[in-house]
Amino acid sequence: GPGTAAAPGTVDTHCPYCSLQCGMALRPAPGAEGGVEVVERAAFPVNRGALCGKGRTAPAVLSSRVRLTEPLVRRPDTGRLEPATWEEALDRVAEGLAGAARAHGRDAVGVFGGGGLTNEKAYALGKFARVVLGTSQIDYNGRFCMSSAAAAHNKAFGLDRGLPFPLADVARTGCVILVGSNLAETMPPALRYLTELKEAGGKLIVVDPRRTRTAEQADLHLAPRPGTDLALALGLLHLVVAEGRVDEEFVARRTAGWPEARAAAMAHWPEMVERITGVPVPELREAVRLFCDAENSMVLTARGPEQQSKGTDTVGAWINLCLATGRAGRPLSGYGCLTGQGNGQGGREHGQKADQLPGYRKLDDPAARAHVADVWGIDPDALPGPGRSAYELLDALGGDIRALLLMGSNPVVSAPRAAHIEARLRSLDFMAVADVVLSETAALADVVLPVTQWAEETGTTTNLEGRVVLRRAAVPPPPGVRSDLQVLGALAARLGWEKGFPADPEEVFDELRRASAGGVADYSGITYRRIAEEDGVFWPCPEERAGAGRERAGRDEANGSGRKGPGPGPDGSGRDEWGGAGRDEADGSGPHPGTPRLFLDRFATDDGRARFATVTHRPAAEEPDADYPLFLTTGRVLSQYQSGAQTRRVEELNRAAPGPFVQLHPLLAERLGAAEGDALAVVCRRGRAVAPARISRDIRPDTVFMPFHWAGEGRANALTNPALDPVSRMPEFKVCAVRVERAEPG
Ligand code: SF4
Repeated sequence: GPGTAAAPGTVDTHCPYCSLQCGMALRPAPGAEGGVEVVERAAFPVNRGALCGKGRTAPAVLSSRVRLTEPLVRRPDTGRLEPATWEEALDRVAEGLAGAARAHGRDAVGVFGGGGLTNEKAYALGKFARVVLGTSQIDYNGRFCMSSAAAAHNKAFGLDRGLPFPLADVARTGCVILVGSNLAETMPPALRYLTELKEAGGKLIVVDPRRTRTAEQADLHLAPRPGTDLALALGLLHLVVAEGRVDEEFVARRTAGWPEARAAAMAHWPEMVERITGVPVPELREAVRLFCDAENSMVLTARGPEQQSKGTDTVGAWINLCLATGRAGRPLSGYGCLTGQGNGQGGREHGQKADQLPGYRKLDDPAARAHVADVWGIDPDALPGPGRSAYELLDALGGDIRALLLMGSNPVVSAPRAAHIEARLRSLDFMAVADVVLSETAALADVVLPVTQWAEETGTTTNLEGRVVLRRAAVPPPPGVRSDLQVLGALAARLGWEKGFPADPEEVFDELRRASAGGVADYSGITYRRIAEEDGVFWPCPEERAGAGRERAGRDEANGSGRKGPGPGPDGSGRDEWGGAGRDEADGSGPHPGTPRLFLDRFATDDGRARFATVTHRPAAEEPDADYPLFLTTGRVLSQYQSGAQTRRVEELNRAAPGPFVQLHPLLAERLGAAEGDALAVVCRRGRAVAPARISRDIRPDTVFMPFHWAGEGRANALTNPALDPVSRMPEFKVCAVRVERAEPG
């Protein structure tokens, strides 16, 4: 494939883990685990060479020591997974899926994808479900990641791209409110932008019930009760109005819905918000002062406010704050979501989401259906309609859904109410899992297909900024392993699909470009060659014009040209405020430059105006009571990633983060008579988890915290509440009610 190596034998690529998609290079290193070593790639603008321990040690996951290298099939006589040939394994999968469809109808077959799959795989999996299996029952684990922010983004701006500006803009704004993100641990290289912000005199406000490593950096740390971020945002908006800080001109010119949103905020007076959130009024006032005194300011949210049964409304309330103060739709200000998974952004754009088609098109939109059906060579009427969301799909396993194909996800560890979901998975008539390791979920399958990963294959991902980047193959896959694209092609052929299913990633990407053309997330002007030459291209990027020149200018400063939603620079010239040229607008020639900054001229709604959300506070689905008097909140630690399927197999990371723990305040520990390291049982209505005590003043006395990376008795998601947000269908991972007791010894 295309790609310029930084030095002989060295291949430029990106980290396999989080949504920062840090640039790195891999150099052959015979003898090293995985056969390559990571070298710095300072030219990539997002991380500028910096990597966290997860990225630095990623080659260890390539090593055959931890890999699946042959298909496994469950033998009826022994009940065990045992090695099989690819032919046998693929036959079994095709028969398992087709058999369920024959007996119970096409929607009896489910497909579950992942936010770690490349754009090409996400696209192919969505197409496979709809055209080969003909099922509506497909969704993916990204539903558990940023779906509330995506829903709020779509409502407010008519378009969902995690960050509507490059991450580097964060260093150049005046004040950042970071809500529910512990990026110092989840994406450490991003911390440098906050450090640079502060060095330049900017202010950082962190909202988190825990004093995390990120909160330690803040000028102001607000520690609300879990599940009250919505009330907090309303309280701040109330003060913005009360203190005359509304940007009336912006509100009148570029928004709609303010009178209703204003009335809702005015009903949340500060003392009431203090009572709900536990954040003192003077701190609320200080936050408003810092946010509004700065010439530019931003709100960035992550899983804290989003993983709630009111996540969409909560994010909407934070967007309201930006809109009312005129901090949106102009450079260096705005709202953004820090997406979690490596391809959480691209994963939701190409059709593995229950309600969406490629190009971020709506599955129930007749024009969208007609366009995509044409690219796929099928009758639009043959396209299934919207299916169930991730948790609802998993909950239907063994009920309506009898067979499942799962790629790149480990719901036994990562789904809420995980013991229940594990039982649903066990109750299936048939399950096939494609993965690189034998995850806890793969271990339950009837057939396990060993697939290539990351540095063994080429493919694109779209990072949290909407920047499409190219991961290049750097090492040959272990013998016996096939790519997910090859697997889908082989299954499609067995299931009678005669139009072919390309296994070459670039060929898939070219089809994806056509499918996305004219959609919200338009990739049609993005090619492997361009990504390689430019080290990433921001969508939307419509098709190149015929005869266009190839020279580039002002790439990183280029504005959106906005055929649909995003506009050119404020003066319409294609120049932004600091002179970067959106070149195709500026001189009328050459390919579309991509769109680093959205909404500068207009929002992507029909009338170009952003929409305020009319939202009011409501409690979490499960609040503490006499039986379960404490909040549980869950999250991540520095040295593990998501369900740990990969990182728990890396020695260095396991040494740094060997297992789960229960973080609790000394006052609570004293009440329980618990000392550091004592085994604690965290008990809720859904189950129980046991892990050692970690006593710390960095958490509220009414709250305990557990990281969710582990299986077994310390599985935090055995406790989490699957109460769903009515719009995004996001489960309430961040808040439920528990009691904590000392676990019986032994
Ligand atoms: Fe960068 Fe995220 Fe990978 Fe760490 S895990 S190196 S922050 S992409």
